[in-house]
Amino acid sequence: MSDALTVEVLIVGAGPAGLFQVFELGLLGIKAHVLDTLAAPGGQCTELYPDKPIYDIPALPICGAQELVDRLMQQIKPFGATFHYGEEAVELHKLDHNRFRVVSSAGTVFDAGAVVIAAGVGSFQPRRLAVEGADVFEGRQIHYKVRTASDYHGRRLAIFGGGDSALDWAMELAPKAAALTLVHRRAEFRGAPASVARVRELEGAGKLRFVEGVASTLCVSDGCLTGVEIKGADGSRHAVDAEQLLVFFGLAPKLGPIAEWGLELDKRALKVDTEKFETNVPGVFAIGDINTYPGKKKLILSGFHEAALAAFAVQHYLYPAKKQFLQYTTTSPAMQKRLGVAAS
Ligand SMILES: Cc1cc2nc3c(=O)[nH]c(=O)nc-3n(C[C@H](O)[C@H](O)[C@H](O)COP(=O)(O)OP(=O)(O)OC[C@H]3O[C@@H](n4cnc5c(N)ncnc54)[C@H](O)[C@@H]3O)c2cc1C
Repeated sequence: MSDALTVEVLIVGAGPAGLFQVFELGLLGIKAHVLDTLAAPGGQCTELYPDKPIYDIPALPICGAQELVDRLMQQIKPFGATFHYGEEAVELHKLDHNRFRVVSSAGTVFDAGAVVIAAGVGSFQPRRLAVEGADVFEGRQIHYKVRTASDYHGRRLAIFGGGDSALDWAMELAPKAAALTLVHRRAEFRGAPASVARVRELEGAGKLRFVEGVASTLCVSDGCLTGVEIKGADGSRHAVDAEQLLVFFGLAPKLGPIAEWGLELDKRALKVDTEKFETNVPGVFAIGDINTYPGKKKLILSGFHEAALAAFAVQHYLYPAKKQFLQYTTTSPAMQKRLGVAAS
C-alpha cells in the first residue's frame, strides 16, 4: 500500500457544498484536499442540470448551474486546494491522536486531521445494463466508459443509450468498427439535434445499424460474450452480434461506502448537530445534501451556511487552544492576505 498523504482536512465531495467548504476553511488559514468520484467539480449542478438557471443564490438573481460551479472554483482559487478527481472515498478509520485514515478507490491513502463529508446524494455511478450475467463481463466485454477509443477499432460493437454520450461514441466509432449497432429503447434520441441527424446519416449510409428495444439476454459461447438479444416494445426479438458492449445509460447517485463507516444515519443521511455540523464521530463533519437535522432543507444555500459554521468547528477540533473570533473579509488583513487581495 502507498504511503499516506498527510493533509490538514479532507473534504469528500466537490459539489457546491464541498467547494464552499474549501473557501470557508481557507479564510481561517486551513488547507484542504478534495476527493470526488467524478472527473470534474460541481456534483449535481454539473452532472444533472448544468444548463439550467438557478434563481435562489443570494445576490445572483439568475445563475446557470455550471456557471455557479465555475464561479465557486474561481472564488476558492487563492486557497490552493488539491483535487483528487475520479476517486471514490471507500474507507474511513479513526486513528490514534484523533486523526483519520481515508482510502480511495484508486488506492490513495490520506492521513487527515479532520474529515468533512460533502457527498450530496452519494457518488455518481453508471447505471448498469440490467441483464442477467452482465456483471461477469464488466470491464472485459461490457463497458460503462471508454478509456482508449482505439481498443474498439476493428471490433463488432453494440452501443446502448439515446443521450449525447451514446450518440457521440456511435459517430466516433462507426467509421472505425468492424460493425456497430446502436440500441435504444425508443426511436427518439435525447442527444443534440445535430448528432441525431449525423447518426441517421450514418445509418442511411450503412455504417451503423439501429435497433429499437432493450437488452433481454446475453449470448455467451465458451465464456465469451458473442452478442445480445434485444426485445422490442412490440415483443419482437432481434439478435445483435457484438463482442464489445458500450453502455451509456447515464449516472445515478449511490450512498455507497459512506453507509459502512459507523456514522449515525437517518434515512440514508448523516445525522449532525446544527452548531458544528459534526457527526457522531468527533472530527468527522457532514455538510450539504448528505446531512440531516431538524428542519433540514436540501438547498445549495443551506450547504453554504453549514460550510461556514463547520469551518469554525473544524478549526477548533484541529487547534483547540486557538482563540476563535469572527473576522470580516472587508476588514481583516489576515483574511485579505489569504485571499491574495490588496487591502485598500
Ligand atoms: C434538477 C435539480 C435542480 C436543482 N435546483 C436547485 C435550485 O434551484 N436551488 C438549490 O438551492 N438547489 C437546487 N438543487 C439541489 C442542489 O443541486 C443540491 O442541494 C446541491 O447540489 C447539494 O450540494 P452538495 O455539494 O451537498 O452535493 P452534490 O451536489 O450532490 O455533490 C456531492 C459530490 O460528492 C461526490 N461523492 C459522493 N460520495 C463520494 C465518495 N464516497 N467519494 C468521493 N466523492 C463522493 C459526488 O460524486 C458529488 O460530486 C437542484 C437539484 C436538482 C437535481
